Amino acid sequence: MSAIPFHSPSSVNYSCDYAWALRYIMGVKMPDIPWEDFASDKVKLARWGCIPGKGEAWPIQRSASLGKEMHARWEQYYCPKPNAKPIIWTDLVGQIMVSGKHLLPRREHCTMVKVEEPIGSRVLKWKRRGEDRESIVWDLEAGDDFVAWNGYKDLVVRITREECDRLGCYWTDGYLLLDHKTTSSIAQYAKINAALRVVDDDRTNLADDLQCCLYALEVMAKFGLRALAVRWVYYETKDKRQAIAVDELITIEHAWEVVDKGCVRATTLERIKTLADAKYNTKACDEYGGCKMHQDYGGPCKARKPIKGEASKQRKQPSKEAMASIAELRAKQAAKAAEIRKSEPPPAAAEAEEETAQVDETDEVVLPDAETVKPRLPVKRTRKPAAVKVEPLPVAEAEPEAEPEVVGNDSASDVLLSLAVRRSNLLAELADVNAEIIAEVSR
Ligand code: SF4
Repeated sequence: MSAIPFHSPSSVNYSCDYAWALRYIMGVKMPDIPWEDFASDKVKLARWGCIPGKGEAWPIQRSASLGKEMHARWEQYYCPKPNAKPIIWTDLVGQIMVSGKHLLPRREHCTMVKVEEPIGSRVLKWKRRGEDRESIVWDLEAGDDFVAWNGYKDLVVRITREECDRLGCYWTDGYLLLDHKTTSSIAQYAKINAALRVVDDDRTNLADDLQCCLYALEVMAKFGLRALAVRWVYYETKDKRQAIAVDELITIEHAWEVVDKGCVRATTLERIKTLADAKYNTKACDEYGGCKMHQDYGGPCKARKPIKGEASKQRKQPSKEAMASIAELRAKQAAKAAEIRKSEPPPAAAEAEEETAQVDETDEVVLPDAETVKPRLPVKRTRKPAAVKVEPLPVAEAEPEAEPEVVGNDSASDVLLSLAVRRSNLLAELADVNAEIIAEVSR
């Protein structure tokens, strides 16, 4: 068992065992930064290619902070706390929320609202760096043993039939599980369903997502259901303000199938007792903008990564059909949103049952290992090819047989043409040699 005695969907999703061990055995983690620090410019993004210095952060830290802020505001929207500040809808986070508000159930049309509720109910007491901690976990049987899972459902509601028709989601006696996801690109990173799938599409199905199935299974167990409607709302955080909803109907049998696989992965990870037991998976180094555990980013991992760009070149870009299907869905949802906005009052504090705010324990556990984070240094993305002396190619000896022949014509223009072709061949060869040198140097 790792230093943290439970798993979460995000912890078992680590595709590199070494990265998992660094995070959950050694406790390496980027510090959380409150959104206000970014909003007020107290913390700025580090310059491209540089490790963040004092008062700077990685883009990934900003994204995480934005996501947390958005979750906190939705929680306040559905379960307003007395004396809490009113929700701001006009700043960046507020605008991102507004882009997807029409995809969420209206509070007054819910007969039950649960926000940030933990899965399971067993209170697990444990210690972290000498400090006593408590976490709520859900124990699931896995072979001869149990796997303790920890997680928080963004939103579980019971809605009216009319609200279900408005949202266009599945109907499972009004129960609906929702999750908010912020992303830099919906077309690239949003999970999809069968309706959104196009030919030659390698995007992941929401129905096969561990978090979705684990949370749905727990809701089904709690309310005695055989199937559950789920809706994942994706909000784009870059230039455009847009959001889409991805719906699925999760049956209990299917949820078990996916969760069983998650339990197998969790038990495999539990066999890793020390960092030395964990294997590198360098195919994962380039994922999500580059693994920040690597020494290039000030982390402790010294694995030899694949040549920069090699892995990303292999990653498929969304196809035209995928973009078109997303655009079509987005247009439909935007039309519906416009319709709804006409009939909807502006967001205001409304009464709803109060819930206690909780955050994913696994996401707030560990502070960064200060010794491993070096002071500001340029990231070694690729070394400058200029540092290597490139010898000029021996032009005269360069494969004369590749030269196009000038057949029976010695006019000036033919000679010039043949020289131009030869020059272009030589330049192509030079480019190949340069590429080889750069690859060699980057190793
Ligand atoms: S840099 Fe690569 S090998 Fe190292 S921990 Fe990250 S994914 Fe694993």
